[in-house]
Amino acid sequence: MEPPGAQRYSNASQERLPWQWEEHEWRRHVERARAGRSLKPAGWPHGARAAVALSFDPDHETIPLRDAETRPGKLSQGEYGARVGVPRILALLERHSVPATFFMPAVCALLRPEEARGYTDRGHEVGIHGWIHERNMLLEAKDERELTFRCADTLERLSGQRPQGIRTPSWDFSDHTLEIIQELGLLYDSSLMADDDPYEVLADGVRTGLVELPPEWIRDDAVYFTMDRYTDVRPYAVPRQVASIWRDEFDAAYVEGGLFQMTMHPHVIGHRSRMVVLEDLLEHIGRHEGVWYATHAQVAAYVKEQAGLGG
Ligand SMILES: [Zn+2]
Repeated sequence: MEPPGAQRYSNASQERLPWQWEEHEWRRHVERARAGRSLKPAGWPHGARAAVALSFDPDHETIPLRDAETRPGKLSQGEYGARVGVPRILALLERHSVPATFFMPAVCALLRPEEARGYTDRGHEVGIHGWIHERNMLLEAKDERELTFRCADTLERLSGQRPQGIRTPSWDFSDHTLEIIQELGLLYDSSLMADDDPYEVLADGVRTGLVELPPEWIRDDAVYFTMDRYTDVRPYAVPRQVASIWRDEFDAAYVEGGLFQMTMHPHVIGHRSRMVVLEDLLEHIGRHEGVWYATHAQVAAYVKEQAGLGG
């Protein structure tokens, strides 16, 4: 759901073109936040063969709001997520006894405190997802820091649970995101994509102890189902075809004894024709022996302990 022209995010402080950079410059960018050791454990709890960690990002109205798109039409699409998508998702998770993680912008929690509380009351996890789904790469460091801290405090107050992890809005990392996460003392991040399985994040080549639970757009509903009515972009996909991708992702994770992680959005997956395939997917996974269903925080805590990374 990004606007065209991602070059607006490029670091404006770079005065010379990339082909003109000295070796230490391109190395510095690559080293800023990258994958360290793999944290894929030798085995999962209870002798399980693979882990399944589902996440939902209840962005609701904040996707249009963060771009100052304030008209009721676009907002109503987000409202659908809260009114229709969330109850369907919670019922589905309950039917399958599956815990999940909800990365929630603080503004959404303020709009509907009962929704935030409803997640934790049902044993799900609530994680940080920005204040108003802000574009962190357009922010000054102090603003990004203040919004992230404010989000953590707001979610704690409204959900009754101190967030242990973050998925940055749109999974974007500014040059300051990693140090803000470290300052917050979070257990894990779930925004970077350097592996299928958990790994430790390195900051400028230095170990951080921060667990990365990598998402991937392949395992995200938004890329397949959203559209922009003002452009010719119509990336609409048939839900049952998308489900076959997700099934293959799970099957391979199961064979490898790894992590199957998914990211979905109530206003996207919550529609009738899409909930059908999510239910099919959970039934497919449920036919496998030895699957450990866990929240992101549970997965992160487990792999960190197994790796002897300490608390
Ligand atoms: Zn989001």
